[in-house]
Amino acid sequence: MSSTFAFGIAITSARQVLGTALIAPDKSGRLALALGILQDLTYGAAKRWIAGKDMETALAKAKEANAKGLGTILNYLGEDVKDPRIAESHFEEYVSLQRAIAEAGIDGCVSVKLTQFGLGFLDDSVVFEKARQLVEEAEGTGRMLWIDMEGSSVTERTLQIYSKLLERHKNVGVALQAYLRRSEGDLKNLMDIGGKVRLVKGAYREPSDLVFRSRREVTENYIKLMRTLFERGQGFAVATHDSRPIEEAERLHLSSPNTRFEFEMLRGIRDELKLKLARQATGWSTTCPTAKSGIHTR
Ligand SMILES: Cc1cc2nc3c(=O)[nH]c(=O)nc-3n(C[C@H](O)[C@H](O)[C@H](O)COP(=O)(O)OP(=O)(O)OC[C@H]3O[C@@H](n4cnc5c(N)ncnc54)[C@H](O)[C@@H]3O)c2cc1C
Repeated sequence: MSSTFAFGIAITSARQVLGTALIAPDKSGRLALALGILQDLTYGAAKRWIAGKDMETALAKAKEANAKGLGTILNYLGEDVKDPRIAESHFEEYVSLQRAIAEAGIDGCVSVKLTQFGLGFLDDSVVFEKARQLVEEAEGTGRMLWIDMEGSSVTERTLQIYSKLLERHKNVGVALQAYLRRSEGDLKNLMDIGGKVRLVKGAYREPSDLVFRSRREVTENYIKLMRTLFERGQGFAVATHDSRPIEEAERLHLSSPNTRFEFEMLRGIRDELKLKLARQATGWSTTCPTAKSGIHTR
């Protein structure tokens, strides 16, 4: 495996994106910024990440983000691993990354793809064990571990592994994709077990019968699922750059100020909006002193 590091939320997008950012209102008014480097990702095309970024660079960027009041999420990029040795090395990279984040005192956590650890190829129990160790490690430093949602061929398994992790650990969240028709049912199930959800629109090419086809329908479903999160969820993430759901989330937040949630965005996209939301988060925490902090802890 290449020894180069790259960090970012793994996305297959029709557009060019430059990284990941996350913003999170919490009691201290801080927002979280996810770091990552993504480039030229197109549906159906081979995914290529900008490489050459090492861990030190990513940590330095995370610190810069923290200084602006933004928290961070970092990825070690890769997916669809079919070699147990590579799966193991991905796992070790994440162990190092989590430790480095903690040692550097960074306000941040990691987000992993389970296919990086061989999901869909190795036995699920092997993948579970790797994820479990990372969740436990994150727990020891008071941090979250997020699990990305990948293509629909692994949705069910990802959710099964997530549910099993959640039985013993509360510091773990999973992404759900609003473009998938099944996500409404999945969200209900996750709310029943106290799951933490990062809501995204979805970034993979999927069979047309599994997804809402138009952008309008996907956005409508996103807002519908987000309302459920505001009704039943805690510690969830609204991960979008789309103004409509973001504005709706702000309204929902005003009517349920004790709900803990965070906005997440890609690095390099809508940076002004992130800072504006960061400033508003301060206002929220001031006006809502009983609100618990966002999911990022330290
Ligand atoms: C933190 C985070 C984690 C994610 N994790 C996952 C995951 O686990 N699984 C998964 O399938 N997907 C994931 N995604 C990707 C997600 O599914 C979408 O593909 C991606 O966020 C784009 O959709 P959107 O919600 O921003 O809305 P869109 O409808 O795509 O965009 C709305 C508007 O936002 C602005 N915008 C969006 N993208 C860009 C851009 N690249 N450059 C400039 N402006 C832009 C534009 O104004 C656009 O009109 C994640 C996204 C984020 C932010």
